[in-house]
Amino acid sequence: MYFNKVQYRKYAQLFLQSIKAQKVDFCEIRFQENLIEDISFKNLNIENIYNIDRRGVSIRVLYNGNWGFSASSDISQKTIEDIFNEAFGMVEHLSEGTVKITSEEVYQDEDIQEVLINPFEVPISEKIEYISSIQNDILKEKNIDFADASLIQVYEKKLYLNSSGSDIYQERCRLFPSFMMYRVNPELTTLKFYTRPVSEGYEYFKNFPFKEEILRANENIYQKSKAKEVISGKYNLLIDPSNLWLTIHESIGHSTEMDRVLLYEANYAGSSFASVDGIGELVYGSEKVNIVGDRTQKNGLASVKYDDEGVKTSKFDIIKNGLLEDLQTNREIAAFSGRENSNGCSFANSYSSFPLQRMPNVSLLPNQTKDLGFKDMLNIMGDGIYIKGDGSWSIDMQRYNFQFTGDLFYEVKAGKIVGMVKDLSYQSNTQDFWKSCVEVGGQSTYSLEGAFNCGKGQPSQVAPVSHGAPVSLFKDIKVLNTKNEN
Ligand SMILES: [Zn+2]
Repeated sequence: MYFNKVQYRKYAQLFLQSIKAQKVDFCEIRFQENLIEDISFKNLNIENIYNIDRRGVSIRVLYNGNWGFSASSDISQKTIEDIFNEAFGMVEHLSEGTVKITSEEVYQDEDIQEVLINPFEVPISEKIEYISSIQNDILKEKNIDFADASLIQVYEKKLYLNSSGSDIYQERCRLFPSFMMYRVNPELTTLKFYTRPVSEGYEYFKNFPFKEEILRANENIYQKSKAKEVISGKYNLLIDPSNLWLTIHESIGHSTEMDRVLLYEANYAGSSFASVDGIGELVYGSEKVNIVGDRTQKNGLASVKYDDEGVKTSKFDIIKNGLLEDLQTNREIAAFSGRENSNGCSFANSYSSFPLQRMPNVSLLPNQTKDLGFKDMLNIMGDGIYIKGDGSWSIDMQRYNFQFTGDLFYEVKAGKIVGMVKDLSYQSNTQDFWKSCVEVGGQSTYSLEGAFNCGKGQPSQVAPVSHGAPVSLFKDIKVLNTKNEN
């Protein structure tokens, strides 16, 4: 069994030419395969191996203002007829609905991401041996007592055809190696490696500088375990992209999804404090804050040439010089709000999933006028705290009031790192926080971070998404001591 796109295309073309497909206002057929493998370790033992080949076809029809949808893991000419009948059967007798979609350009194209090593072509024994050797090196270090590891790999193939004439084939590869270390004394202390989830081949994992990372982790976990507790109060915060990506995801990514703004969608992440009227008006942050939605960014987890409605993706401003500039849309939401075109934010995580409006890569742009490096940013801050790595968080259902922790917190005095503090969270609301952004670092401090599993919808779907940011400076942010809860 393999993804036979030549055969699948023939099935779809034949069906789209048939009388049946002509009965509906719009019809799209998506063949999709997701190879997923997760190898996880606890110390030197394999904890779990999850391996799945999820392949099938779905049909979505628009008829009289209503969506019908059906899918099957069996792929044949007959199946396509059958699932069309099911999808059409759902809407055939419904009264007129409200769904409209934008009219979009038609494409016939193929886009295969270039990777050096497809992780599914590496023997599993080799991957296990490699992770085991890293774990072995980690556990040899004197300050580390336990270590968890996981390597998630995804290879995705999508063939999309619609009744307007689009015919698009795409392949993407994603990888997420993650390592967590534990020290028991004087109290339980955890630390993460700065491996990132990426849209790259196995070479990202093979080439990652684990030797240096292990030495750093051994020193950092020791320093973290004996760090003094933070004293709550207002601080200047210099936030690393390894921490800021999550704040961008929660306070900007989710709140600028137009379906949430319109209260069309509220599952998982709630709705939004932002409004359509706020476009061009809402002061989201300081003039240093420039945020783009970009599914064309190299190695971005949400990057793809065409989305799952056949719309060519692009880079667009979401926040420009602190002002709300645009919202994320798919074809339905764009039409619903009176727009001519979607900005390409549709995604389905499996062949059997209804495509939803999903977040593009949402990133904070680096400083365009001054190439400020990390040391420059420390000097500009003077006194404060430098935060690295992500931790837990909470945010309300309007994506407004929030609290974020982190992995490492460094005390900075007169532009120099003088030691570590611990048990810190920063608390603010979306507008106050982004308005307090007084400087952003240059390109040299920029890093593309992200998440593999952003949840949305019912039934729930997960989506991968990247968030880039430079090291950024925020003035007078409320810091809490999470241990004393004050
Ligand atoms: Zn999310």
